[in-house]
Amino acid sequence: MAEITLDTVRKEFRDNSRTIVAVNDLDLTIRDGEFLVLVGPSGCGKTTTLRSVAGLEEVTSGTITFGDEDVTDLRARDRDVAMVFQNYALYPHMNVERNIGFGLRLSTDFDSQEITRRVEDTAEMLGIEDLLGKKPKALSGGQQQRVALGRAIVRDPEVFLMDEPLSNLDAKLRAQMRTELQELQHELDVTTVYVTHDQTEAMAMGDRIAIMNDGELQQVGTAEEVYRTPNNEFVANFIGSPSINLLTATVENDRLTGPGGFSYELSDPAPVEGYDRVRVGIRPEDMTLVEDGIDASVTVVEQMGNENFCYMEMGEVDLTARIDASLRPSPGETVEFGFEETALYLFDPETGESLKTMT
Ligand code: ADP
Ligand code: MG
Repeated sequence: MAEITLDTVRKEFRDNSRTIVAVNDLDLTIRDGEFLVLVGPSGCGKTTTLRSVAGLEEVTSGTITFGDEDVTDLRARDRDVAMVFQNYALYPHMNVERNIGFGLRLSTDFDSQEITRRVEDTAEMLGIEDLLGKKPKALSGGQQQRVALGRAIVRDPEVFLMDEPLSNLDAKLRAQMRTELQELQHELDVTTVYVTHDQTEAMAMGDRIAIMNDGELQQVGTAEEVYRTPNNEFVANFIGSPSINLLTATVENDRLTGPGGFSYELSDPAPVEGYDRVRVGIRPEDMTLVEDGIDASVTVVEQMGNENFCYMEMGEVDLTARIDASLRPSPGETVEFGFEETALYLFDPETGESLKTMT
């Protein structure tokens, strides 16, 4: 068991004469036994971070520790980690039993009896006991993914590292494997870093979620924390589906004025004091259709069964509201919307930093 600490970890790549900063002085602690999900858009540095923890990339600067041990200069095979990749990387000519036991057989620490016992225990844990004699090509995608997991689990490592392990599975199986993986991780209690670009997956799985953008850590917190109290506009926009509505408003005394007919008087203007412009965010579920609100023109209504998504235009800004299933305004219709002031997110227009603590 180990707590993992990344202290000002930096990884630069040279691409011809250009320097790419893939990981930009990252500070991050993953608690002992925690399931931490590292999430962010494609190219933001997730894989490079994970490979650095694994020892597959040599960091440019900074230190990585497992518990009390500085592992920064240790080779991958000398770190007690097991990694699961998106493409399962199973050996096609070996059956499931040999695939799972492969890493143990390379080591001199295990006799064949111990290997057999461990492989059988792992297969049972994953519900693949009946597949031990089969070759990978005879397995479904979900079964292959279980074998890949088995290969990691059987080693009983200090740390699990997983890079988008479910992204090759279809939606239904992916949802099922999310739950199974979470259960398994909590059972094994092994410190885990799980990488995904999918914020829904991150929110569903992580004990905590670390959000990255452009090589930099934006925020670490529980699903509720990053959703309700985002540090900045990037986090607010990245987390949540449908995405938060965003617009730029001018500030005059207590009044926010924006595109189309957006006009709102703040009863508490303290957060916007000193600003002549701010970025305003409103979550789709915090908007309601009212009698005497702000005008918007309906473009499309999507019926979800238990609720409707109402897409609207207000000047040049597109808005989405989650409304009651019984409400179905027509495209082209002008509706009025309202919201509670406490539901407003406010951001610095230059830095994107949050201007208020949500309640
Ligand atoms: P993610 O996993 O979040 O999609 P990566 O860690 O793969 O992001 O990549 C981060 C950045 O580093 C990208 O700009 C990518 O092109 C660059 N990069 C990753 N690996 C290499 C490499 N081996 N050589 C050069 N650039 C790389
Ligand atoms: Mg990646």
